[in-house]
This record gives sequence, structure tokens and C-alpha cells, in this order.
Amino acid sequence: MKRFYKDFNQFKVRQVYSILEDAGIPCTIKNEFIQGASGEIPHHEALPEVWLLDADWEPKAKELLNILEEDTKALDVPDSQWQCQRCNESNEPQFRICWQCQTAR
Ligand SMILES: [Zn+2]
Repeated sequence: MKRFYKDFNQFKVRQVYSILEDAGIPCTIKNEFIQGASGEIPHHEALPEVWLLDADWEPKAKELLNILEEDTKALDVPDSQWQCQRCNESNEPQFRICWQCQTAR
């Protein structure tokens, strides 16, 4: 058994667990339901965790985690236009520099 991932956010832990499971990597969740009815923030050692049943899977699991995190970052891209601070041009959200004056966002 090897602890692979832990996060305060139970949703993220479950997401990591499900991508590993989908990839056929034997794993399990610990402390998933530790945040009980009290609603208190769990102690550090009681965070939900994903454990690999076999540490040999770790490189593969890390690879999948990287992909997941890249996907999550991609979702952070705002979906609205932004206005250039220099020339006030409106730019599409996917651009990081102003198409008009090339000022960085
Ligand atoms: Zn501009």
C-alpha cells in the first residue's frame, strides 16, 4: 500500500480515485467520510486520501494525475472577453496578449 494523493477537497480525491480506477490501477480511498455531521474541518491526518494497493503503479498514476491537473487548468480559462488595459480593445478569452497592441493580459 502506498499513499498517492490527498486533498481537503473530497470531490478532487474522488475524481483522482475514479481516473485511476478507470485506468485499471488498483487503489482505494481512505478517510472519505471523515467529515461527518459536525461539519468541522478534519485534522490534517484525516484528509481524504487515495492509496495505491501496489506502489509499482505510482509512475502511471502520477502520469494520469498530471493529465487531470492539466485538464483542470484548462477549465480555469475564463469564458468571457477581456479588455486590454492599454488600448481598451476587447479580446477573446483564449488569447493571452492583446491582438491589437500585443500587450500581455
Ligand atoms: Zn491592446
